[in-house]
Amino acid sequence: MAVTELVARYGDFPDITRGRLETLQVNLGYVCNQTCFHCHVNAGPNRREVMARETVDELLAFLRDSRIGSLDLTGGAPEMNPHFRYFVQSASSMGVAVTDRCNLTILEQPGYEDLAEFLAEHRVQVVASLPCYLEDNVNAQRGDGVFRQSIAGLRRLNDLGYGGGDGELELTLVYNPLGPSLPPAQEELERAYREHLSREFGIRFTRLFTIANMPINRFAKSLAREGKYNSYMRLLRESHSDGNLAGVMCRSLLSVDWKGYVYDCDFNQMLRIPLGGGAVTGTHVRDLRASLLDGMPIAVGDHCFGCTAGQGSSCGGALGK
Ligand code: SF4
Ligand code: SF4
Repeated sequence: MAVTELVARYGDFPDITRGRLETLQVNLGYVCNQTCFHCHVNAGPNRREVMARETVDELLAFLRDSRIGSLDLTGGAPEMNPHFRYFVQSASSMGVAVTDRCNLTILEQPGYEDLAEFLAEHRVQVVASLPCYLEDNVNAQRGDGVFRQSIAGLRRLNDLGYGGGDGELELTLVYNPLGPSLPPAQEELERAYREHLSREFGIRFTRLFTIANMPINRFAKSLAREGKYNSYMRLLRESHSDGNLAGVMCRSLLSVDWKGYVYDCDFNQMLRIPLGGGAVTGTHVRDLRASLLDGMPIAVGDHCFGCTAGQGSSCGGALGK
């Protein structure tokens, strides 16, 4: 059975609508220096999709006109987009708080040696994936050598004041399970991360987010290959909590693809589900007014149970703490 058919199998996620728009989440392209097993973007070094400077300027105009306070940059490795620094500098000079979803290993790549300093200089918040504090588990999910490079990247950020506890330069780590299971309790896992990373490597961080793996793209295909897709979907559905619906990120976030088209969230973007389930041709950010989004229906599907299962998942970590 094709993954698209599998995704469409359960169609009874509750209806939800948008609240006030607070965050613009922008995918700067699918190029990445890694090829992680669970990647919902199918990113990698051979991808060619990269946001153009013209689209970055359209997004800056949208930020200015709509007075959104938060810009969340993702990819791929967003820093590999040639306009990344221009975008960060321009947005932060407008008073917009910028978050970089950083894979850590990019900080150690040739040509990016000064990236950490640039992020610190512009007070960019760093959100970084580290799916375990044990080397073998990280390498199994993200590739050989990734754990050591991630530790080196974290040390570099700590040396610049990230994760230092003064709340200024925030360093958030993100955990996701290795396989088709729900994440453990966020607070307990944060304690274990803090203790291990401090003792073994002297590393500090601000907080830990736990998120569930979304049953889409590379992860969904691997589950389908192993005959585990249906049991994972069942687990997500059976663990759904209505209490998580108020906090799902699509209520306050708008996701933009590398061409400038908008979606309810990054996952819908990957599944090509247009904003609000509207026109399949999509809506471009240059044609959008933020004030019109308030109260608009959100396009939901079976994959949404990945956001509401258990403690819930969002780009801000667990929902039901
Ligand atoms: S680092 Fe992130 S974007 Fe790159 S392959 Fe891994 S999960 Fe995907
Ligand atoms: S998958 Fe996207 S649209 Fe569905 S609940 Fe999660 S954030 Fe909202």
